[in-house]
Amino acid sequence: MSMTSYKHRKHGKYHGCCCRHKHTAQPTVPELFGANVFNDLVMKERLPKETYRALQRTINAGANLQADVAAVVANAMKDWAIERGATHYTHWFQPLTGATAEKHDSFISPAQDGSVIMEFSGKQLIQGEPDASSFPSGGLRVTFEARGYTAWDCTSPAFLKEDGAGNVTLCIPTAFCSYKGEALDKKTPLLRSMNAVSKQALRVLRAMGNTTSSKVIPTVGAEQEYFLVEKEYYFKRLDMMTCGRTLFGAPSPKGQELDDQYFGAIKDRVSSYMKDLDTELWKMGVTSKTKHNEVAPAQYEMAPVFTSTNIAADHNQLVMETMQKVALRHEMVCLLHEKPYAGVNGSGKHNNWSLATDDGINLLEPGQTPGDNAQFLVFLIAMIRAVDRHADIMRTTCGSSGNDHRLGANEAPPAIISIFLGQELTDILEKLAKGEKICSPEGCQFVKIGVDSLPDLPKDNTDRNRTSPFAFTGNKFEFRMVGSSQSISGHNVALNTIAAESLDEIATRLEQATDINQEIQALIKEAVTNHGRIIFNGNNYSEEWVREAEKRGLPNVGNTADALKNLIIPKAIELFGKYNVLTKDELHSRYEIYSEQYAKHLNIEARSAVQMVRRQYIPTVIRYISTLGASASAAGKHGGVQKKLLEQISSLLDSASKKVDKLETETRNARGIEDVGKQTAAFRDRVLPAMNALREDVDQLEELLPADIWPVPCYSELLFKL
Ligand code: ADP
Ligand code: MG
Repeated sequence: MSMTSYKHRKHGKYHGCCCRHKHTAQPTVPELFGANVFNDLVMKERLPKETYRALQRTINAGANLQADVAAVVANAMKDWAIERGATHYTHWFQPLTGATAEKHDSFISPAQDGSVIMEFSGKQLIQGEPDASSFPSGGLRVTFEARGYTAWDCTSPAFLKEDGAGNVTLCIPTAFCSYKGEALDKKTPLLRSMNAVSKQALRVLRAMGNTTSSKVIPTVGAEQEYFLVEKEYYFKRLDMMTCGRTLFGAPSPKGQELDDQYFGAIKDRVSSYMKDLDTELWKMGVTSKTKHNEVAPAQYEMAPVFTSTNIAADHNQLVMETMQKVALRHEMVCLLHEKPYAGVNGSGKHNNWSLATDDGINLLEPGQTPGDNAQFLVFLIAMIRAVDRHADIMRTTCGSSGNDHRLGANEAPPAIISIFLGQELTDILEKLAKGEKICSPEGCQFVKIGVDSLPDLPKDNTDRNRTSPFAFTGNKFEFRMVGSSQSISGHNVALNTIAAESLDEIATRLEQATDINQEIQALIKEAVTNHGRIIFNGNNYSEEWVREAEKRGLPNVGNTADALKNLIIPKAIELFGKYNVLTKDELHSRYEIYSEQYAKHLNIEARSAVQMVRRQYIPTVIRYISTLGASASAAGKHGGVQKKLLEQISSLLDSASKKVDKLETETRNARGIEDVGKQTAAFRDRVLPAMNALREDVDQLEELLPADIWPVPCYSELLFKL
């Protein structure tokens, strides 16, 4: 098969591998971008008009997909994929593990004469039956109906994944459900929540006189933080391999205190990684836009251009996967854990969220005209009400054993949810609520909603509050509590659903109002009076805020074990049930699965810690003790230094040995607990402290033993080698 230039991709001749061809020029970014996506452009070109239109109706308006349409689409998709070297297809889905899942089937179909033809039917496109009985279902699925079903999500385009071995696979984004249609995945509730918020937001828009928009789409841009580490070092550390983070490690003499990494010049090796990463992402249609060095040594960030929540969630999974895959090609490992190293910043994922209409209006954009201002204020207060009411649910979605190291640990946002609005906007809301004059450089006036314009708000891109967990940043909210390794689906399910409820109530009020503007005025007043406590523009890391938040009655849930319980309280069941996002059973299954995951992660950490101590640290220390002992005897009365060291090291060894026994016992006990709530509590209250106590001794030993005999790479190597 000859390799042709990317330039011919529109005509179906791109094979995705021409960069290796000597005589073809490097493809430009526009040629490269989306080359592996069965996107609108490709569909327009390859589908008969009728089929294209029918599919668009399904994508945009959720119309039922007819079998004959699916058959034509499947065939076109197959031809397109095969021309690009694909041999297999997979229903690509997102089980509750938080990762993605794929089972590859080749297109081959044996013919009578012993040959094969390449086939892909409409049915194979629409539905799959992976033997997925090993995925967690949290009791939703009993063994006799263990099969889960995958169903094509045509709102997220199919794409090709290429791997280093040259395999090309057609990936079809799918939802994953049980036989009875219960959600076993992260995508199903996300799609349901998108419908819910669209419906309620449209009601608000209609009540305010909008006749042009026919759909409201929650939009998301997820900034992804990550660490890179030398591959050779990574594979020398059991903790990194099994837990994705270091369980031990004395601090490096240099950390992040010089602020010399943040936005610093990107080193060649990392730059070459980022270039490859961009290329891979662009090919799959991921709009990788921004890259920079982050705060901690060896920490980086990538941010895409925002898109619909569903695609953003799919793309973020691809981003995480690709980051890890490409790193290995560069002899590095990408760490997505929330806290790979103690003592320096951890990684998060800033989930930028807004609502947009299908005709391009950002509903959180303040705008210039009185009408735009009124619309903005309504959607803004909808979120203030929503977040104040359901801060607990937002917090819950951020719970994971990894993220517990960040939230409230004096670096990332605290575990207390609040909204940062900025002083100007807060003043405007308060004055509107009180009916006071609002001042701007043009003068002071009583502002009438829908009649007068608001003063210009500063586009606070520079001087914004970095400590807030949920910050309004000019025309969107930035949810900063999300963990770097988490799927962003849960967070956006929560945001969409709490927004839907709030907008539902506002819509009802506006629909019944005789004077819309007066009603908006009243709604603003109520929001400020009843929900103003959620607004906080100060330093979220300070001790005063913790006390102040308590006075305001804001929840402060410090750990995952507690946070998860809020998934199954009546308030949550009612909310998610009312908007058909998650049923009571589905919520319970999630509670079970996430709690188990928390316990399992800590169990793996504890067992890894025990192994490292028993099989690496203790033997090393014992060997060194005998060297020291021999040296002390040889030195006779001059062996003071050796003896002092011997004493220090022996006593730490003794202590570490007792602590490792304790950790082992605590872990065994916690593992044996049946009740999932009690088990997570035991891991939190008994296993985690035992692990931390053990670390103290080991880290002290590391500082006393010769570097050349320490069995694993140390922090300065891990953080500064690249
Ligand atoms: P910063 O790090 O300064 O917060 P970035 O440029 O790294 O800014 O990230 C901002 C993110 O917010 C980008 O992914 C961007 O696409 C996204 N974003 C911008 N506008 C919207 C919007 N209306 N809805 C959702 N996300 C948005
Ligand atoms: Mg950023």
